[in-house]
Amino acid sequence: MERKQFQLGDVVQMKKPHPCGTNEMEIIRMGMDIRIKCVGCKHSVLIPRLKFEKNMKKVLRSKEENEAGGGSELT
Ligand SMILES: [Zn+2]
Repeated sequence: MERKQFQLGDVVQMKKPHPCGTNEMEIIRMGMDIRIKCVGCKHSVLIPRLKFEKNMKKVLRSKEENEAGGGSELT
């Protein structure tokens, strides 16, 4: 029942690994669609937000853990 939270710059784990074998994706663009980049092969894909939320397993590394505050960038 927990809501998935993610933001730009987060590295997330997907339910299905990328064909290259890596299961870590970095969020490089957020909007109606989300662009994620494979940490392993640097391939980026654009997927609808709903699909991303369905396929995302968890946030591995949050950018906010390192940077306090900031983030006034809104769409
Ligand atoms: Zn890959």
